[in-house]
Amino acid sequence: MATLPGNDSTGSVVLAAHYDSTFGTPGAADDKASVAAMLETARALVSAGPLRNDVIVIFTDGEEAGLLGASSFVAEHPLADRGGVILNWEATGNAGPSVMFETTSGNAELIKEFAASAP
Ligand SMILES: [Zn+2]
Repeated sequence: MATLPGNDSTGSVVLAAHYDSTFGTPGAADDKASVAAMLETARALVSAGPLRNDVIVIFTDGEEAGLLGASSFVAEHPLADRGGVILNWEATGNAGPSVMFETTSGNAELIKEFAASAP
Protein backbone atom coordinates (compact mmCIF):
# COMPACT_ATOMS: atom_id res chain seq x y z
CA MET A 1 0.00 0.00 0.00
CA ALA A 2 1.19 3.52 -0.75
CA THR A 3 -0.27 7.00 -0.43
CA LEU A 4 0.34 9.73 -2.97
CA PRO A 5 -0.42 12.85 -0.93
CA GLY A 6 -2.59 15.53 -2.50
CA ASN A 7 -1.79 19.22 -2.18
CA ASP A 8 -5.32 20.30 -1.11
CA SER A 9 -7.02 17.03 -0.26
CA THR A 10 -10.71 16.89 0.52
CA GLY A 11 -10.68 13.08 0.69
CA SER A 12 -9.04 10.01 -0.69
CA VAL A 13 -9.24 8.15 -3.95
CA VAL A 14 -8.42 4.53 -3.20
CA LEU A 15 -7.33 2.28 -6.05
CA ALA A 16 -7.49 -1.40 -5.15
CA ALA A 17 -6.61 -4.65 -6.88
CA HIS A 18 -5.74 -8.11 -5.62
CA TYR A 19 -2.58 -10.02 -6.45
CA ASP A 20 -3.76 -13.50 -5.50
CA SER A 21 -5.56 -15.75 -7.96
CA THR A 22 -7.65 -18.87 -7.94
CA PHE A 23 -5.61 -21.97 -7.06
CA GLY A 24 -4.02 -23.55 -10.09
CA THR A 25 -4.37 -20.57 -12.40
CA PRO A 26 -1.73 -18.00 -13.29
CA GLY A 27 -4.18 -15.20 -12.56
CA ALA A 28 -3.11 -13.07 -15.50
CA ALA A 29 -6.59 -11.57 -15.94
CA ASP A 30 -7.85 -11.97 -12.38
CA ASP A 31 -6.21 -9.97 -11.20
CA LYS A 32 -2.58 -9.45 -12.22
CA ALA A 33 -3.58 -7.29 -15.21
CA SER A 34 -5.18 -4.85 -12.77
CA VAL A 35 -2.09 -4.89 -10.56
CA ALA A 36 0.06 -4.03 -13.59
CA ALA A 37 -2.36 -1.29 -14.68
CA MET A 38 -2.39 0.19 -11.18
CA LEU A 39 1.42 0.24 -11.02
CA GLU A 40 1.50 2.11 -14.33
CA THR A 41 -1.26 4.45 -13.13
CA ALA A 42 0.71 5.21 -9.96
CA ARG A 43 3.82 5.90 -12.03
CA ALA A 44 1.88 8.24 -14.32
CA LEU A 45 0.25 10.06 -11.39
CA VAL A 46 3.61 10.62 -9.70
CA SER A 47 5.09 11.80 -13.00
CA ALA A 48 2.19 14.21 -13.61
CA GLY A 49 2.90 16.10 -10.40
CA PRO A 50 0.91 16.87 -7.28
CA LEU A 51 -2.73 15.89 -7.23
CA ARG A 52 -5.49 17.69 -5.37
CA ASN A 53 -6.68 14.68 -3.40
CA ASP A 54 -4.75 11.89 -1.76
CA VAL A 55 -4.51 8.71 -3.80
CA ILE A 56 -4.11 5.46 -1.89
CA VAL A 57 -2.91 2.51 -3.93
CA ILE A 58 -3.58 -0.82 -2.24
CA PHE A 59 -2.74 -4.32 -3.41
CA THR A 60 -4.68 -6.91 -1.45
CA ASP A 61 -4.27 -10.64 -0.85
CA GLY A 62 -6.84 -13.30 -0.07
CA GLU A 63 -9.51 -11.99 -2.44
CA GLU A 64 -10.29 -15.40 -3.84
CA ALA A 65 -10.51 -16.85 -0.31
CA GLY A 66 -13.19 -14.34 0.65
CA LEU A 67 -12.04 -10.71 0.25
CA LEU A 68 -9.68 -11.15 3.21
CA GLY A 69 -7.25 -8.34 2.37
CA ALA A 70 -9.93 -5.82 1.41
CA SER A 71 -12.02 -6.69 4.46
CA SER A 72 -8.99 -6.34 6.71
CA PHE A 73 -8.19 -2.90 5.25
CA VAL A 74 -11.74 -1.66 5.78
CA ALA A 75 -12.03 -3.14 9.29
CA GLU A 76 -8.60 -2.30 10.67
CA HIS A 77 -6.65 0.32 8.74
CA PRO A 78 -6.98 3.98 9.84
CA LEU A 79 -6.92 5.21 6.23
CA ALA A 80 -10.17 3.34 5.58
CA ASP A 81 -12.05 5.78 7.84
CA ARG A 82 -11.17 8.88 5.81
CA GLY A 83 -13.96 8.53 3.29
CA GLY A 84 -13.77 9.25 -0.40
CA VAL A 85 -13.96 7.06 -3.45
CA ILE A 86 -12.82 3.47 -3.81
CA LEU A 87 -12.17 2.09 -7.27
CA ASN A 88 -11.65 -1.67 -7.16
CA TRP A 89 -10.03 -2.93 -10.32
CA GLU A 90 -11.21 -6.44 -11.08
CA ALA A 91 -11.52 -8.88 -13.94
CA THR A 92 -14.71 -10.29 -15.41
CA GLY A 93 -12.97 -12.41 -18.02
CA ASN A 94 -9.87 -12.39 -20.18
CA ALA A 95 -11.09 -10.49 -23.23
CA GLY A 96 -13.23 -7.53 -24.21
CA PRO A 97 -13.41 -3.88 -23.25
CA SER A 98 -12.87 -2.45 -19.80
CA VAL A 99 -16.20 -1.72 -18.18
CA MET A 100 -17.66 -0.52 -14.90
CA PHE A 101 -19.75 -3.47 -13.78
CA GLU A 102 -20.64 -2.87 -10.14
CA THR A 103 -21.17 0.09 -7.87
CA THR A 104 -22.76 0.95 -4.56
CA SER A 105 -25.84 3.11 -4.21
CA GLY A 106 -25.69 6.89 -4.23
CA ASN A 107 -23.09 7.12 -7.01
CA ALA A 108 -25.13 8.73 -9.79
CA GLU A 109 -22.92 11.83 -10.00
CA LEU A 110 -19.75 9.73 -9.95
CA ILE A 111 -21.08 7.46 -12.71
CA LYS A 112 -22.02 10.51 -14.79
CA GLU A 113 -18.44 11.81 -14.51
CA PHE A 114 -17.02 8.37 -15.27
CA ALA A 115 -19.20 8.02 -18.39
CA ALA A 116 -18.10 11.45 -19.60
CA SER A 117 -14.40 10.70 -19.19
CA ALA A 118 -14.32 7.00 -20.13
CA PRO A 119 -16.78 6.51 -22.97
ZN1 LIG B 1 -10.65 -11.00 -8.84
